[in-house]
Amino acid sequence: MKEWNVFSDAVANKPESRRASANFGKTDIGRLVRMGLNENPYGMSPKALNAIAETAAGSNLYGDFQANELKKTLAEYYGMSYDNFITAAGSSACIELVGNTFLNPGDEVLMCPTFAAFLDMAYIHQAKPVTVPLKSDLTYDLEGLLEAVTEKTKIIVICNPNNPTGTYVSGDSLRSFIDRVPEDIVIVMDEAYIEFSTAPDCESMIDLVRQGIEKPLLVLRTFSKYYAMAGVRVGYVAAAPELIAAMKKCPCNCNINKMGQAAAVAAMKDQEYYQEVKALVVAGRKYIETELEAMGCRVYHSQTNFIYFDAHVSPEWLRDRLAERGIMISSNQISRVSVGTAKENEMFIGMMKEVLENAELAS
Ligand code: PLP
Repeated sequence: MKEWNVFSDAVANKPESRRASANFGKTDIGRLVRMGLNENPYGMSPKALNAIAETAAGSNLYGDFQANELKKTLAEYYGMSYDNFITAAGSSACIELVGNTFLNPGDEVLMCPTFAAFLDMAYIHQAKPVTVPLKSDLTYDLEGLLEAVTEKTKIIVICNPNNPTGTYVSGDSLRSFIDRVPEDIVIVMDEAYIEFSTAPDCESMIDLVRQGIEKPLLVLRTFSKYYAMAGVRVGYVAAAPELIAAMKKCPCNCNINKMGQAAAVAAMKDQEYYQEVKALVVAGRKYIETELEAMGCRVYHSQTNFIYFDAHVSPEWLRDRLAERGIMISSNQISRVSVGTAKENEMFIGMMKEVLENAELAS
């Protein structure tokens, strides 16, 4: 293979991305039941699907680059202003936008172990990711994060509830943490899964933005999970208008396509459908947690649409045995399974029993 000597220092020195697709090696994931990427198996609202079909015909013309209709819908939904929002092609693109807007080489990005795109965001701007370990119950160590702040800290990332652990920090702890963060540090709240939460104290920090918090707080949200639109690519950031205006200067503000915007608007207006889906996901989450615990696994109780668990075997080994049987889960420090349909969840539990029994017989 030719060694091209043409890359920016940032790219040349960057470790390979640890994003999800890298986890599955040569496995043809197209053939597997997808319980590894935290997708929503129930699909998007029929009204959102309809909106895509209706919009597709006009796709020879450019869409609305500023996603005005979606921003208006978000503003109405949250009781905020249109200027509080910027949209992008998924929350991954929002993360890129954050890096483009706020990071300089040498800055530090402080986080606990979380979604790997934040590491990519730091490396690509020649910033340094600084990772504070999670506590023993795999929740965020907010005190540890505050202690790790240095003069170089530019961004602190909190993913709540967190990926891959599914655990959360309460609204009260977050508000007092945010109070104590020095005011020149950008606080990024990634709330990709928060709509699946059922704990009353698992609270969105969008309220602080609505109240006009005088700190640079950004809340990142996605239509990929709760709204079941992972393949459509729509996400947004909620923040103070001055922060949004700065983000708009960045070239990756190339925004979402026509169909994505129409689907997102229709989806937000069909909360009834999504509340029904949420009930199914929450029931599936409870079922998987209970069954895994009955098998002797250590389960980290989740506020998301996935469950992080330790089956006391190598997570890669478990992932490969399940893939052989037709189910895709994800391996990290331990294992992570996304909630599927009721039938998929039962299939997963049945296979887990079989795989773990065989593992015991072999040992
Ligand atoms: N943030 C978290 C915590 C995630 O887990 C994911 C995807 O899995 C994303 C952001 C990105 O979501 P998307 O780019 O599909 O909006």
